[in-house]
Amino acid sequence: MLSKADTHVHTYYSGTTHYKALRFPESVTSPEEQVDAARRNGMSVVCITDHDSTMGGFKALEYGRRFDDIDVVVGEEIMTSDGEVIGLWLNEQIEPGMTAEETIDEIRSQGGIVIAPHPFSFYVNCLKHRIFNLDIDGIEVINGGHVDPWTNNYAMGCYKSNAKRWAQIGASDAHSTRTAGFTWTEFSGQGEDDLRKAILEKTTVACGHPSPVFTQTQWSIEVVQGGQKMIWDSIFGRLKDDPENPLVVKTKNLTRSSKALALVGGFVYCCPPVPFIATWLSTNWLKKKATDLRRLLRRTYDY
Ligand SMILES: [Zn+2]
Repeated sequence: MLSKADTHVHTYYSGTTHYKALRFPESVTSPEEQVDAARRNGMSVVCITDHDSTMGGFKALEYGRRFDDIDVVVGEEIMTSDGEVIGLWLNEQIEPGMTAEETIDEIRSQGGIVIAPHPFSFYVNCLKHRIFNLDIDGIEVINGGHVDPWTNNYAMGCYKSNAKRWAQIGASDAHSTRTAGFTWTEFSGQGEDDLRKAILEKTTVACGHPSPVFTQTQWSIEVVQGGQKMIWDSIFGRLKDDPENPLVVKTKNLTRSSKALALVGGFVYCCPPVPFIATWLSTNWLKKKATDLRRLLRRTYDY
């Protein structure tokens, strides 16, 4: 039988990101919600891969034990000095900031599997052509968060011209349950042991397509509203203390003026049609940039 796995999923343990002066939570989705969504989407395996944290992975693993139709794998998307690397089947959190080689050695010492996420993204810090010199088991040839016509196509081209060098991986990179389920890795068998075997034997198949732009807009509204609710709760003393949750810690440490600014900014962002215009503008920028890169590549290699 063939089964589905999502090898790249985030929860609110991924913390915050920033664009210029603006700060947003990466995700406001709990590990439990991501496991439920993966089950609804028919995944046999879901790997929780938060940014520089395994905390959400272990929470999801604990929660997943009550279901016999899904296996949860603890992973981490680690920021190395050479770009992001995913380690799967980890026992312990790996610190960011090391080189890709050092990070991969650490993943191997834990008996883990190494995946290159969105290796040719032009707007996320990633490994790019270093994948040819590193000890990597699989590369994402379909990343669900990359709607531009460059990143996935270029990765697939690299995969095809280096057949069987890596396992091909399709993964949602979902930071919300709304963007999960559109992209997955198909493998023969069922459960985490068969997935691991299929990656090592390089028999996996990347399936699906990036999540629709509309669902990404929903995710952006979700994180803005989720962040606003936490700020609101903290103002009224209703935000429960949770030192393990990076969003709670960040919200509690915000100054009053930052909270006020975030509430006003979030309100403006959530007024229709602002989120739709913002998504339309960013998608168009990505498409234009991807077309420029294709043109540049054609000129460089003269074909
Ligand atoms: Zn990711």
